[in-house]
Amino acid sequence: MSSGPSAPEIETVTIISDDSDIEMTEVTPKVKGGGGPKVETSGGGADEVEGRRISRRKKPKVEYSDTKPVAAAGSVASDNGGGKAEPRVEPKVKKREPEPVAAAVGKEEGKGEAETNPHKEILTGLEGAAFQSRLPFEKMTASEAVCFPEITKHGLVAQRVFLNVRNRILQMWIENPTVQLTVENALKNMEQPFDSDQNLVRKVHAFLERHGFINFGIFKRLKPLPSKKLAKVIVIGAGISGLSAAQQLQQFGFDVIVLEARDRVGGRIATFRKNAYTADLGAMVVTGIWGNPITILSKQTGMEMCPIKTACPLYGAGGKPVPKHKDDMVEREFNRLLEATSYLSHQLDFNYAGNHPVSLGQALEWIIKLQEKHVKEKQVQHLNNIIAWQRKLVDNQKAIQDTMDSIGVLRVKHQQLVDAKPPKPAEPDAGYIEHEFNIRSTARDEQLAWKEIERLRTSQTEIETKLRELETEQISEVYLSSKDRQILDWHFANLEFANATPLSNLSLKHWDQDDDFEFIGNHTTVKNGYSCVPIALTEGLDVRVNTAVKRIKYFPGGVEVTADLKSNSSTVHYKADLVLCTLTLGVLKLAISDQSTSQLNTVRFEPPLPEWKQSAIQRLGFGNLNKVVLCFDRIFWDPNTNLFGHVGSTTASRGELFLFWNISQSPVLLALVAGQSAAIMENVSDDVIVGRCIAVLKGIFGNSSVPQPKETVVTRWRADPWARGSYSFVSVGSSGSDYDLLAAPVTPRPERPPSSSGLNGAAAAAGHNTTNGSGNGCGGGEDDDDSKADIPRLFFAGEHTIRNYPATVHGALLSGLREAGRIADYYLGFPNTYPDAPKEEPKK
Ligand SMILES: Cc1cc2nc3c(=O)[nH]c(=O)nc-3n(C[C@H](O)[C@H](O)[C@H](O)COP(=O)(O)OP(=O)(O)OC[C@H]3O[C@@H](n4cnc5c(N)ncnc54)[C@H](O)[C@@H]3O)c2cc1C
Repeated sequence: MSSGPSAPEIETVTIISDDSDIEMTEVTPKVKGGGGPKVETSGGGADEVEGRRISRRKKPKVEYSDTKPVAAAGSVASDNGGGKAEPRVEPKVKKREPEPVAAAVGKEEGKGEAETNPHKEILTGLEGAAFQSRLPFEKMTASEAVCFPEITKHGLVAQRVFLNVRNRILQMWIENPTVQLTVENALKNMEQPFDSDQNLVRKVHAFLERHGFINFGIFKRLKPLPSKKLAKVIVIGAGISGLSAAQQLQQFGFDVIVLEARDRVGGRIATFRKNAYTADLGAMVVTGIWGNPITILSKQTGMEMCPIKTACPLYGAGGKPVPKHKDDMVEREFNRLLEATSYLSHQLDFNYAGNHPVSLGQALEWIIKLQEKHVKEKQVQHLNNIIAWQRKLVDNQKAIQDTMDSIGVLRVKHQQLVDAKPPKPAEPDAGYIEHEFNIRSTARDEQLAWKEIERLRTSQTEIETKLRELETEQISEVYLSSKDRQILDWHFANLEFANATPLSNLSLKHWDQDDDFEFIGNHTTVKNGYSCVPIALTEGLDVRVNTAVKRIKYFPGGVEVTADLKSNSSTVHYKADLVLCTLTLGVLKLAISDQSTSQLNTVRFEPPLPEWKQSAIQRLGFGNLNKVVLCFDRIFWDPNTNLFGHVGSTTASRGELFLFWNISQSPVLLALVAGQSAAIMENVSDDVIVGRCIAVLKGIFGNSSVPQPKETVVTRWRADPWARGSYSFVSVGSSGSDYDLLAAPVTPRPERPPSSSGLNGAAAAAGHNTTNGSGNGCGGGEDDDDSKADIPRLFFAGEHTIRNYPATVHGALLSGLREAGRIADYYLGFPNTYPDAPKEEPKK
């Protein structure tokens, strides 16, 4: 770190550098035994189940079993993954006990579900239903409190009844998400005495439906869609966020069309299928199944979920297995380094160097330098110690010599006195007595001197032993040997993969702001390809593919969208009441940039997006991550592992082909290109990249074992004009609240920047008069012309708009559900199943 702030006190650790490849413990490179990289700052937890970290995040997941006290303000976006900018109920993090590693691999080990699912007891019943819906079991959320003021007012008993009704409806839905849960069926199946207040059941059902907690995804309809269309919506983008929103909007009674530039739906969910080969080129992993809305979709759409075995043997730059002791040691060091960065940021508030926010990469390298300095200091201290003991030895030897000399003098003196001794007189004689005294005195002095010699010799032995100990003591000469550093760089590459950007781009303070919202349970892949989900979600929708939007015009009366049709190279204009824009953050960045017009897929907003929106788009990061798919005629790797790592030879190239995935027992490998390498490799030809993969694999498995691949695919997500990158990250200078700004709708009139204490930032961001009720998640329903003129016309969904679940498929899905609810609140008011809201309710 160049700006040289005074070094904070960080507990430093020294690893004994060892460049050898000698295995100290029995090598079992194929199966990594214990837990994986765990960042123990958070007190251990569910990551322990995951072996080496393969998820997008580093910390254990959250248990939504508690919330802060219900806040007075509500949010349009509800608690279904909405923003944090306004007072709202947030799940309180409660770390779980570490799970047994077997839970991750239990299926393969033939264990039953009960044994492999330590959460089973809380995941059934009403508590399980609330947990699976990401809602606190025993408390009302802020949105619920705002939408049901009569409940909060009537105290604990009323709240208990409410919670029971709410959790029971959730349970009915989760038990059978393939069939619409009508309010009639909810009433029929509601147990006594909770069925007595029919109005409450209706209201809760309507609330849960509006906010995407029930009746979302693809399910058998028992009631027809509303025939009267209330408003027309154009959804831009047929990714998971656009499709999930479109389904909801259609269900609420909107007339919806989805415009998609590609010739397929799914966006960043893209499955390669050829012959018997299947491989996901974009999203591939369902990161935790409990609390994940994708789990509901998996029951509706026939996703074949395969739990991932997270054991991940590492192979060194030359292809040799990394010895286990070294692997474990460096992994521990990696976790300690991350822990130190967290301490630096959150305990010491060391988030700025000079006037510049610090990046995670900077902090890590800085701590590594501190460690190196610490090792040097220890070395100097050790040498000084040896010198001090050597000095003691010399002093001791000199003392021995001096004492021996004085013994010699005493001896001579004694002998002289003995020789000169007069004969004993008959009478006591003073001279004789004095002579005798002198003889005895010198003899005694000599005796004492010999005792001193004995003491000094003992001391000499002690000093010599100490010196021998010190000289043989192993003191690290360097903090990390070159091999240690390579392995550490592998872990950094893994983190760069998780965040889709070099660590130097990540905000030290906020990069992991969403960690507490990770789901628990197995991480799974989708054997039949993730694209089955977006394809299923198109059911009953009007999706226009090959339709590239190039202009979005919004004004008080509505919107007009202009698009190019690929099929006949024509331009079409669509008019509607509002637009839901799910363009990726990469596409939005280009849309607001000055030099955007010459490039393919430059969307223009008219009028330009407000300044607060533009600056949030600029601040938040949009990363890159690429994959190489290699389809072979046979499996030549250990079929019992899903992952193996390849350690790069330099820091700069650490992300190049650093991790290989094999999923679903098919002869397909997926190699990952992350960090700096992701961008660099986009300019390298497919042949060269595939050639490098084969060279790496031959280094590991031997020349003769690795055949030529039958099919290959190399992704280039940054160059893809419809994505312009892979997913969002919290860049230096940004924070979680930028996700809220990206989620906030825009009203076509002079804007006021959203207040951080507003209602999810949304109503305020839209310059919206919250007194029309649309801003609190409950709607108002009184759509006089004035309030309609003031209504937002431009709404935003997508993974980059959801603070708690960004960069994921489930986050994108939840953002779509959130926006559909928000749009319905604004345009339809709250469902008429709220007939008996008390007069004093702040319903405007
Ligand atoms: C390589 C990679 C790996 C990933 N791995 C995982 C993973 O393992 N697990 C996970 O949960 N998530 C993963 N993700 C992230 C996940 O894929 C995304 O978060 C999610 O799919 C985003 O959905 P979305 O609807 O927000 O955006 P998108 O799916 O990108 O949808 C936006 C749509 O807008 C369309 N579009 C763009 N421009 C125009 C235009 N001008 N006109 C009309 N349409 C337009 C695009 O074609 C696209 O279909 C990964 C992503 C990548 C790239």
